[in-house]
Amino acid sequence: MQSPTDSFKSKECIFCKIIAGTLPAEKVFENENVFAFRDISPQAPVHVLIVPKQHVVDILDVSGRDMEIFQHLFKAAQQIAAKLGIAGSGFRTVFNSGDHACQTMYHLHLHLLGGTQMGGSLVG
Ligand code: AMP
Ligand code: ZN
Repeated sequence: MQSPTDSFKSKECIFCKIIAGTLPAEKVFENENVFAFRDISPQAPVHVLIVPKQHVVDILDVSGRDMEIFQHLFKAAQQIAAKLGIAGSGFRTVFNSGDHACQTMYHLHLHLLGGTQMGGSLVG
């Protein structure tokens, strides 16, 4: 049975379309649970978005047995950091949720940023 979320997913969600291959993206990693691609407007030399294949909106939309999503995302972050050569130099992982965090894409995504010395402020 199709839920309202499924309907949104197929019609509107850009990240669902990237996962489905109907919109282009520079893929860096994929497995059964996650898809990862370069951010279209990178804020660091390495800026990858790691998204669950399941459409969930943000952190608050993940509950119960879906909590495994976070394991999948962070395991992928470990693998991608190694693959892209930033595991040793360091990297930042960020989830933006809601207005105050300036979330713009409403399919959960973990930003993986690295390849440069970043500042210490997380809110600037
Ligand atoms: P956020 O502000 O956390 O919602 O981040 C959304 C991110 O998605 C931004 O860094 C955008 O540059 C990025 N983005 C938006 N559309 C695309 C796209 N089609 N391909 C790759 N990255 C995108
Ligand atoms: Zn989606």
